[in-house]
Amino acid sequence: MRRVSVFGATGSVGENTFDLLVGRDDLHTVALTGGRNVTRLAEQARALRAEVAVTAHDECYSDLKAALAGSGVAVAAGPGALLDAAAMPADWVMSAIVGAAGLAPGFRALAQGATLALANKESLVTAGPLLMAEAARHGATILPVDSEHSAIFQALTGEDIAAVERIIITASGGPFRTWPREKLAAATPVQAVAHPNWTMGQRISIDSATLFNKALEVIETREFFGVNPDQIEVLVHPQSTIHALVGFNDGALMAHLGAPDMRHAIGYALHWPERRVLPVARLDLAAMGQLTFEAPDPDRFPALRLAREVMATGGHAGAAFNAAKEVALDHFIAGRIGFLEMATLVERVLDVLSPQSGLHAEVGSLEGVLAMDAFARQTAEDLVRKGL
Ligand code: NAD
Ligand code: MG
Repeated sequence: MRRVSVFGATGSVGENTFDLLVGRDDLHTVALTGGRNVTRLAEQARALRAEVAVTAHDECYSDLKAALAGSGVAVAAGPGALLDAAAMPADWVMSAIVGAAGLAPGFRALAQGATLALANKESLVTAGPLLMAEAARHGATILPVDSEHSAIFQALTGEDIAAVERIIITASGGPFRTWPREKLAAATPVQAVAHPNWTMGQRISIDSATLFNKALEVIETREFFGVNPDQIEVLVHPQSTIHALVGFNDGALMAHLGAPDMRHAIGYALHWPERRVLPVARLDLAAMGQLTFEAPDPDRFPALRLAREVMATGGHAGAAFNAAKEVALDHFIAGRIGFLEMATLVERVLDVLSPQSGLHAEVGSLEGVLAMDAFARQTAEDLVRKGL
């Protein structure tokens, strides 16, 4: 019986994962974690007969306990309990918490040699070298779940990474792909969250509108596949049918196509190295008629340029970049800063931090990464308070 755990089970990726796990008698669920939605977490824990359900928030403990009364599912709460859950032996662990909060539990799961299905791209952006080294040290496997990275991974199967010339990740362009800059300045969170092709959590949806999601994914590509930054390209492809392409030294381009449904990438990671039948729509290319492509616009979407700067800086720049982006997103959602000011804030934080030695220092420990994360958040908050 394979033992599985899901971190961030109540989110968008978590629910898609739940959908693939429920009703499977060849899988045993060890731990499920969530946030404040304890009613849903309890339902999932009962349906999967999990050993333990964990809410990230201490104050939600009694509600979760009550919701699971008589179920036989153990209950725990708080960040420490998340780490304890990650230390419980499991064969396959889904990392689908959103944000830098997902780093420590995923890192902990690697120490017991589990296969880590990594949706939490922030883990690689903030601590890529650390995560890859930890996996190698414990004989653990990291499998990408981000759709573009799963696509690259699949296109590389049986290939030699040394023969790769370039990797192209596609971006839908988000809801504001055709908006002029003046209009972008007034874009609201409700407009930004309306992704044209994918149904996802609120935060990644807004990150798709700014292209910060794609910026994180460029860095994720570099960290996971070990290619140089100049080998990674972003291509706007509004239909989101091609998820990524890999270009080889003989001129061949291998593209991965599929419906915009995360259950493909999750299911691929769940069954790897096998392929199993998955409940995703099959493409009818003739009915679609055409696929279109365009170059991203760096003026309206500066996030991609910032990602290049982060990769050039190296060290802890990824942690600072992600933390500043998370704070900018919080303030945008709260209506305190405008859509374009998110990128402005992130750029300011990187400028302020750039003379500090900590930014350039090699990533050596989880503590170092979390310290930079906290420092960048504080710097971003200070800048917002003073007025951008
Ligand atoms: P979501 O907001 O829908 O769900 C996030 C989950 O994490 C929820 O279970 C929530 O309760 C939990 N959570 C939130 N804050 C937490 C904290 N501080 N501590 C512990 N748990 C916390 O997010 P999502 O869209 O499912 O995305 C999850 C991750 O997967 C993100 O890193 C995202 O970038 C990545 N991803 C998502 C998609 C997608 O289709 N949604 C696609 C590719 C990658
Ligand atoms: Mg993606």
